This record gives sequence, structure tokens and C-alpha cells, in this order.
Amino acid sequence: MNSALQQMVRDCQSWTDKGKVADYIPELSKANPSQLGVSITQLDGTEFYAGNSRDLFTIQSISKVSNFLLALEDKGYEALKHQIGVLPTIRGFNSILELDIENEHKPLNPFINAGAMVTLTFIKGKNNDEKFSRVINFMSQMMGEELSINEAVYQSERETGNRNRALAYYMKSTGILTEDVESLLDLYFKICSVQVHCGHISRFAAVLANQGRDLNNEMSLIKPYHCRVAKAIMANCGMYDASGEFAVKVGLPAKSGVGGGIMAIASGKMGIGVMGPALDTRGNSMGGWQLLERISDHYQLSIY
Ligand code: GLN
Repeated sequence: MNSALQQMVRDCQSWTDKGKVADYIPELSKANPSQLGVSITQLDGTEFYAGNSRDLFTIQSISKVSNFLLALEDKGYEALKHQIGVLPTIRGFNSILELDIENEHKPLNPFINAGAMVTLTFIKGKNNDEKFSRVINFMSQMMGEELSINEAVYQSERETGNRNRALAYYMKSTGILTEDVESLLDLYFKICSVQVHCGHISRFAAVLANQGRDLNNEMSLIKPYHCRVAKAIMANCGMYDASGEFAVKVGLPAKSGVGGGIMAIASGKMGIGVMGPALDTRGNSMGGWQLLERISDHYQLSIY
């Protein structure tokens, strides 16, 4: 499989020239746009990889999946659904239009910024430091390695994250958020800046492909029902307003981040992690998307 993946990386390399690295978080603009990597983890733990598969990038919005899973484990779907919808993303991941004005200004879904912030309020912890430890431990457990944050990216987003600040204060004004906004934003930024590589992402995806069971010892890390809920929402909302097109072209539940990563889940088969910091206008990795199209075709993975 490694040589097939190497060939796919070569075939997709030219796509990295067509995108642009995120620069609205200044530190992210330092990323190398020509990087491209992939990792696949099978359910017995076997891994295959090619390209820049072990280069670190920040997890960004892929963390919205682990946050949501932890919130589900802590409080259950019935509690979350009153505050966060499962509607498709319509206008980008950080738009004010992602709040459902006809429905108490609820965020449309948990995989846009506003929805992720509300999700964090459902995670148990006596304060946001404790919540952060729980989140990073949960991620580390699923990804099979102790993770840490990229301090420079965290500080950079904290200093410049005014759109997120605006979204959070707006939600406080409508009563969807009741917490201290600055402390919640700090937690959100810190989680987005956790550093990962494609192998971490594919391992996490493989746990979801394995209905929440650890790949080594089959211990349950996430309830199967919660995996199902998260995957269903990923399939509909994981690639923002490109989710429909992604369903047609790739056909797998997936989640992207502006650090250039995308996780994709082939249930019962494998987890896939790709990275390529050059993004399309909607914030999805261009090379990563192309790689996923080829992997899905080659191994006939589309769920449709
Ligand atoms: N930290 C980023 C932000 O809030 C995450 C967005 C993303 O990855 N799409 O803007």
C-alpha cells in the first residue's frame, strides 16, 4: 500500500500550487504550501504512509470532532441537541450566518466555530484548565501518543481571533452562551493549536471506524452510538459548505482544519489522515482533498 500512496502523493502534488495557506491567523502563514502527506491506519493498527506524513501541523477544526465526542460522552446527545443543531453549513466556518436566527440563534452544527464553542461548555471540568487537560488526554488516548500545543500558533490566534471573539460575544448576548467568554475562547484557541501529524489523525479516524474501540486492546473509548452521531454530522457538515461536493467526490465522513489536515473515516475498514496546508477558499486542504478522492476511488470506499 505504501507505494500506491507514494504514487498518489506524486499525482496530487501539483494541486498544492493552486491553494493558499491560511493567513488570518498570522502564525499559520509560515506553513510550507507544498507539503503533502497521507497516513492510513487499518483496524488492526497497521499503518501506511507517504509524503509529509510525519510533519507536524496544528489540528485546528479537526479538534471539533474530539470535543464533540467528549461532550457526548459527558452529557449525551439529547442534552447537546437543544443548544447545537445538525444543519448543513451554509456560509463558511466562522460566519455569523452560521447561527440559526429562526431557532434561538443556535449554531447550525458542532463543526463550525460557533458550534464548537458551545460544545466546549458541555465538557465536564471544574474550570477550563481542567477541561483542557481532559480534552488533550482524550485526544492523546485516541491518537496513541501524548500531544502538546504549538505555543506560537496559540498566542497568534489569541491575539488576532476577533471574529471568534465576536461570535462568542454575540452568542452570549442571545443567551446561547452563559460562560465567561474570554476564558472559553482561550480554551477554544488552545485546543485548536494542538500539534499532530497525519498518523495521529488516521489513528483517531480508525478508532471511529472501529466504533470507538481502541485498536490495541479493543477497550471502548467512545460509545458506538456517539461514534454514529459524530460520523453522521461529519458526513453532512465536516467539510463546511463543501460537504455536499465532498460527499459526491469522496463519499466518506470527514473533518478538515485550516492547519491543512483532513480526517476521513471508512467505517469497518480504515482511518485516513491527510495534510497539505494550501487551502481552497472554503478552508479545506486542496492537495488533501485530491488525495482522498484517489484513495476513495482506489479502495472503493465511498459509503454511497
Ligand atoms: N482555529 C481556527 C478558527 O477558529 C479553526 C478554524 C478551522 O480550522 N476551520 O478560526
